[in-house]
Amino acid sequence: MREFEYVQATDVSQAVAAVTGDPATSYLAGGTTQIDLMKDGVLGPDRLIDITRLPLRGITRSDGAIRIGALTTMEELAADLTIMERLPVVREALLLGASTQLRNMATIGGNLLQRTRCRYFRDITCACNKREPGSGCSALEGFHRMHAILGTSEHCIATHGSDLAVALVALDAIVHVRGLNGERAIPLTEFYVVPGDTPQVENVLAHGELITAVEVLLLPEDARSGYLKVRDRVSYEFALVSAAVALVMEDGVIREGRIGLGGVATLPWRAYRAEEVLRGRPAQTDTFQAAAEAALEGATPHRDNAFKVELAKRTVVRALSTTAGEDS
Ligand code: FAD
Ligand code: SF4
Repeated sequence: MREFEYVQATDVSQAVAAVTGDPATSYLAGGTTQIDLMKDGVLGPDRLIDITRLPLRGITRSDGAIRIGALTTMEELAADLTIMERLPVVREALLLGASTQLRNMATIGGNLLQRTRCRYFRDITCACNKREPGSGCSALEGFHRMHAILGTSEHCIATHGSDLAVALVALDAIVHVRGLNGERAIPLTEFYVVPGDTPQVENVLAHGELITAVEVLLLPEDARSGYLKVRDRVSYEFALVSAAVALVMEDGVIREGRIGLGGVATLPWRAYRAEEVLRGRPAQTDTFQAAAEAALEGATPHRDNAFKVELAKRTVVRALSTTAGEDS
């Protein structure tokens, strides 16, 4: 690992100024992504600004919403009473991610900004447009069983690894950020960008903008929600496919449905078309199957990951059936 300077920030404005003013300076939160990538030589900042002492940790509930400080850990959020009672999809997504040790270190802001697990991105001997723009994409002709089938481009097919973001994107969460010119609020559905011909650009943040909090509106009291994650082994593994769903039903008819997909797309994917299919229809298997078909419309699988299309449809059906209380 290259030598770097370590600075502990005590003030939000100073931290933002320090990172914004220098492209070779980065934030350090729990370090579970950042330090890994530095050890692998993928990232090589000259200076790290440790933000973990900033007053951005904790969860507050106001009327109808919950505000999560960016430095709250994954484990703290999963243990929050409001999350347990009103947003089980968030708790399940958190607890099905990483390991207890990691979740005790990893922060919510860092989770949203974690980098892809594409093995070629993490191996600096391989061509990778995301790491080194214009160098090529080793995954296209390489081993791409874990890669994306939605939102891809000819330049990158890497998936986004966050489970939490899949749940939050389905819930229309808002990301609050602080930059040199003040604060702004960004809907999570507009936060990430597909790779296109610039896979190195993953979100709309400018260098130095600091995530300060994430805000989520609570679902109606009678809503149901859940997260289903399908993976190669039962714990400590990223998703092959995952689905975050929320349903508001009345007399067996779906008033509102939300669906987020993970493991299949280049960003935490919101399945809007599938949600339209659900609206006003009975909560039963044929409705869920029609929604699953709509969710995977336009999928572009490659040689090794074609199985994900059918797996994703079945995951959506199972997640909706379980959440609705139907047999799948
Ligand atoms: P850091 O590593 O400190 O930072 C990550 C990035 O975000 C850095 O670029 C940093 O500069 C930037 N950053 C951090 N905080 C802020 C902020 N507030 N504002 C602006 N920039 C910021 N995740 C899952 O969702 N599901 C899994 O199954 C899963 N499994 C994992 C298994 C392993 C073995 C490992 C190592 C990780 C796994 N993860 C998984 C990823 C893990 O959740 C993330 O590494 C973690 O959430 C990142 O948070 P952090 O606080 O450690 O971020
Ligand atoms: Fe790099 Fe994306 Fe190709 Fe992976 S899929 S090698 S991250 S360009």
